[in-house]
Amino acid sequence: MSETIHHQIVIVGGGTAGITVAAQLTRSWFHRRDVAVIEPSDKHYYQPLWTLVGAGLAKKESTEHTEASVIPRGVSWIRDAVAEFLPDQNTIRTRDGKTVTYDWLIVGAGLQINWDKIPGLKESIGKNGVCSNYSYATVDSTWEAIRNFRGGNAVFTNPSGAVKCGGAPQKIMYLADDRFREAAVRDKTKIIYASPV
Ligand SMILES: Cc1cc2nc3c(=O)[nH]c(=O)nc-3n(C[C@H](O)[C@H](O)[C@H](O)COP(=O)(O)OP(=O)(O)OC[C@H]3O[C@@H](n4cnc5c(N)ncnc54)[C@H](O)[C@@H]3O)c2cc1C
Repeated sequence: MSETIHHQIVIVGGGTAGITVAAQLTRSWFHRRDVAVIEPSDKHYYQPLWTLVGAGLAKKESTEHTEASVIPRGVSWIRDAVAEFLPDQNTIRTRDGKTVTYDWLIVGAGLQINWDKIPGLKESIGKNGVCSNYSYATVDSTWEAIRNFRGGNAVFTNPSGAVKCGGAPQKIMYLADDRFREAAVRDKTKIIYASPV
């Protein structure tokens, strides 16, 4: 028989949103709630720092923490992924077959990056000067591209639709501009900011 668990408050996703909400809900002893976080990954990433990693000013390893170390004290961690929502029954089913019931539900499952929605991007990302600060796997390639840039067009794209950080494309562009000046290639460089909005 599949396992059934109940928590007063269930938070889906143990990223920045989920962990911040869990911490707020359990901060005061008097307001302590029975809170559970459902999160499949054993790693947590502090993504805002990826801007500085892409600019060569921080190491990406410093943004990675164990999920266990960021789960607030007193909060239960269900290491599993949500597979199905049954909101009429205040119930969730997980990938591993657990049934989780709740009084309140908070969903903070983040964004899924679909590199393959842009033809050629999945094959190119991280290579040949094509880079992105939007994932742990590719953020080092940004610094590689900026560090090795010798002039020409430096194109920074701001995607349309929902993105993790609206300011990220501009922030790395300003940091790259600074680096191009430092490396004495700025006068050979055209910086292009390509944005649909
Ligand atoms: C380069 C960059 C720079 C940024 N700079 C800033 C900044 O300066 N200031 C700022 O405020 N923000 C910044 N951000 C944005 C910030 O990092 C994100 O807004 C924040 O991480 C989003 O948190 P989240 O919890 O919604 O998503 P995430 O942190 O991505 O976490 C989502 C979690 O949900 C989990 N999950 C996914 N599917 C399921 C499932 N089915 N079941 C259970 N769990 C699931 C995932 O494993 C993940 O752990 C930046 C982001 C980037 C990439």
